[in-house]
Amino acid sequence: MTNLSLDDRFARDLPEMAVRWRAEEAPDPRLLVLNEQLAADLGVDADWLRTPDGVRLLVGNSVPSGATPVAQAYSGHQFGGFAPRLGDGRALLMGELVDTEGRLRDLHLKGSGHTPFARAGDGLAAVGPMLREYIVSEAMHALGIPTTRALAVVATGRPVYRETPLDGAVLARVASSHLRVGSFQYAAATGNRDLLTRLADHAIARHHPQAADAENPYLALFEAVASAQARLIARWMQVGFIHGVMNTDNMTISGETIDYGPCAFMDVYDPETVFSSIDMWGRYAYGNQPSMAAWNLARFAEALLPLFADDLDQAVSLAEAALGAFGRQYVADLTAGMQAKLGLSGAEESAVAPLLEELQDLLQQNHIDYTSFFRALGRAARGDAEPARGLFVDLAGFDAWLNRWRALGPDGEAMDRVNPVYIPRNHLVEEALTAAAGGDLAPFEQLLTAVTGPFDERPGLERYAEPAPEEFGKYRTFCGT
Ligand code: AMP
Ligand code: MG
Repeated sequence: MTNLSLDDRFARDLPEMAVRWRAEEAPDPRLLVLNEQLAADLGVDADWLRTPDGVRLLVGNSVPSGATPVAQAYSGHQFGGFAPRLGDGRALLMGELVDTEGRLRDLHLKGSGHTPFARAGDGLAAVGPMLREYIVSEAMHALGIPTTRALAVVATGRPVYRETPLDGAVLARVASSHLRVGSFQYAAATGNRDLLTRLADHAIARHHPQAADAENPYLALFEAVASAQARLIARWMQVGFIHGVMNTDNMTISGETIDYGPCAFMDVYDPETVFSSIDMWGRYAYGNQPSMAAWNLARFAEALLPLFADDLDQAVSLAEAALGAFGRQYVADLTAGMQAKLGLSGAEESAVAPLLEELQDLLQQNHIDYTSFFRALGRAARGDAEPARGLFVDLAGFDAWLNRWRALGPDGEAMDRVNPVYIPRNHLVEEALTAAAGGDLAPFEQLLTAVTGPFDERPGLERYAEPAPEEFGKYRTFCGT
């Protein structure tokens, strides 16, 4: 039997936002990948998860006693337009568990069948996109970036009809919670102040307990979320991560990255990079992510306004001041992060800033692969500038830059600890998923090995460090898959 026990704290605290529901029966569940380390961190026996009973739990067909699976209600601004009723259309919160460090974590399933929030959707997910979320979220975790985690992907044995029939799958996801900006928008839109207050208290207790002691706890909650998001977005920018669908329903209160749909890593440095096929206007382009995060936080503040102060004008000015702090913290976090990427953490900020600006122009004009460049630059710090120089067409321009950078005494060892060798490159992810769709999981596992040790260069993994070959062409990603 299972040693797993699940609480139903969200469902108890916020019944208005929790629809009791059960996963659709999976006809022939088959475990494709299990995160044994994460299972251990959760205090769950990985060997048991591999048994038929364990696999049934991972698709929601067996529910531990005491658990109350629910579909969570939330709203969201999608590409700027407000949708009052989104919610878990194909997902369920199975419940919460306490991990071995005493932290409360959500166990959540994605692709577990339609719910009352499914609208026109089928409630299902295919193997490819669920493995994609697995690999990218685990790569992000290994990069040290806050994120939801992937515990397992189970093929259901049920077909999913997209352009062609595909194998269905369920992703078991773990997060410090699934509360989003959209959860607050939902509570605010009901006009039920008691619900909004309970949600805010739930979020404070769960994520930002220090806010409870502040003079204005709800403003302190907002500030804590804005701060966590500033930190998060700065981290995305440092590794070239493009989320692709930063709608308010995809922005967490915890500051974890969530919802790996159309996300992808930037290859050639260009702030206008967009991969998502539906992001026609580049709203969520790489370079727009900080301002889009601020936009989302403004929507979060609007939802919380009634709790900030009784007087509306006063509430608005408190919100504006807190949003200003987000901008300043983002810039400070990004600056510190980029200094570290350049191996210049100890240097004067005023000396590094112009150098960084000039580098960004050089990278863009010379069409340089962002990830390879910083790793090659680490070698330049140790005396071998050729790998970095070899990337540039405008050698004179880069050489002049190199000399100024070297004069500041960059630390190559420190650079290798923050500049990854291996990221889930688009062509490698596609290759792994195509093989997995044909039943061969070996390329997926090999890629997972590479990207879960992103800073640790290993022989035999050379091709995982290389940019895509020319013929891979322009990459496109898709939502709602
Ligand atoms: P996303 O773009 O993945 O963040 O999803 C936005 C909304 O669409 C959420 O309410 C999802 O639950 C819902 N959704 C996405 N795909 C499906 C699907 N296949 N079936 C039902 N609902 C879905
Ligand atoms: Mg979503």
